[in-house]
Amino acid sequence: MDEKLSMAKKPESESFVTEITPRSQDFSRWYLDVVRRAELADYSPVKGCMVIRPYGYAIWELIQQALDRRLKATGHVNAYFPLFIPESLLTKEAKHVEGFAPQVAYVTHGGGEELEERLIIRPTSEAIFGTMYAKWIQSWRDLPLLLNQWANVVRWEKVTRPFLRTTEFLWQEGHTAHETEAEAEEETLKILELYKEMVETELAMPVITGRKSESEKFAGALRTYSIEALMGDGRALQAGTSHNLGQNFAKAFDITFQARDKSVQHVWGTSWGVSTRLVGGVIMTHGDDSGLVLPPNVAPYQVVVVPIPRGNWQETVLPKAREIQQQLVAGGVRVMLDDRDAYTPGWKFAEWELRGVPLRLEIGPKDIEKSTVLVARRDTREKQAVPMDGLVASISALLEQIQRTLFDRAVQFRDDRTQRVSDYEEFKNFMDGRPGFVIAPWCGSAACEAQIKTDTQATIRNMPMTAATLPGRCVRCDQPAQAEAWFAKAY
Ligand SMILES: [Zn+2]
Repeated sequence: MDEKLSMAKKPESESFVTEITPRSQDFSRWYLDVVRRAELADYSPVKGCMVIRPYGYAIWELIQQALDRRLKATGHVNAYFPLFIPESLLTKEAKHVEGFAPQVAYVTHGGGEELEERLIIRPTSEAIFGTMYAKWIQSWRDLPLLLNQWANVVRWEKVTRPFLRTTEFLWQEGHTAHETEAEAEEETLKILELYKEMVETELAMPVITGRKSESEKFAGALRTYSIEALMGDGRALQAGTSHNLGQNFAKAFDITFQARDKSVQHVWGTSWGVSTRLVGGVIMTHGDDSGLVLPPNVAPYQVVVVPIPRGNWQETVLPKAREIQQQLVAGGVRVMLDDRDAYTPGWKFAEWELRGVPLRLEIGPKDIEKSTVLVARRDTREKQAVPMDGLVASISALLEQIQRTLFDRAVQFRDDRTQRVSDYEEFKNFMDGRPGFVIAPWCGSAACEAQIKTDTQATIRNMPMTAATLPGRCVRCDQPAQAEAWFAKAY
């Protein structure tokens, strides 16, 4: 058996695997139970930081690969910038430092001596990219510059939850520089669409795209756009952001170039990122009372093969199970053969269900006689006998079906929990009851937005670029509306 991502220790009893708080009873407890029991992450000796365990990290790697492919296909290249940023660099862009200062961790000593200038541990890297871009960019011929980095960042957090909000987390951050404002805006929206396509295709997690309000935009950006998903408890998750930085950072860091008309101009910038938060999104979008439900595209194991130990199974069933494993692996399927004899099949079924493996293949002497395997789907719990002949094709088709089913189910859930309202009482009742997205007209005032948050805990998640209807009057103050906004309680 492949031990790499498997359990390190033998559990105390077979009932141990069912120790998950039901989702309907306490969603937040359920989430933490799943993270721990599926061995996705664990708490670390440093408060607010998590250890991502192999099974959780394998999910992140699959997300990473899926995104990295897409970024490279659209002309972006990877680089790596330092973890430390001199404090003076962060303070160059006023709004930026104001936004991030409360969350910054400082290094004051190194090599046993107090540093002349404190270093900050990057909360994001606009400052250091900006500094280097000022050196590297001279002419319009150097543009666009389309860099991305995969890295860790640190933002000091008071309240943390594995994957959703931790003091240190992993992400990618893209930083681009362009000749014109229009090109920067085009890049910002291109990435937003790329995120949406990646998250919906690979994570089976439907998202809405739109622009953030002024109060929710990135510190130092001209405009921020986001993708927002609805989790199983009706709360929204910001799953990725893309910022048009305008010339703010170019002016702060003096990133200039000689334009085609020989004039000297500041570049137009963008930055954008998604993080390990997406793993939390997958858990909360698809999971159920039995634990994790993974979309096949990001499942470390898409199939688990469980041999049924009857008679001299090690001479009969096991070789056949190995043969099936090899066939599937050759067909590009990620497979775990659970041949541990210290556990019963029943225990293994519960264990791999909890860990969200999309398909379970059971094989015993009777199946071999009939030349079939018993296949159980994690998403619908349907079981069917599948002929061994043409197994790779059947399994691949089933995995595609599961991927689609999970997405459709999540879309259905979101639609059921989305309501268009124009009356404030109705708005408040909806947020008190079964929360979800409320689409409502908004006047554009920050005071009104803040009041809505105080009254209902809901914030503007974003404002779609193409509103379905013309906005009427603000849901709260009755002034003429400027935009149609999607509100929700959010993570
Ligand atoms: Zn208003």
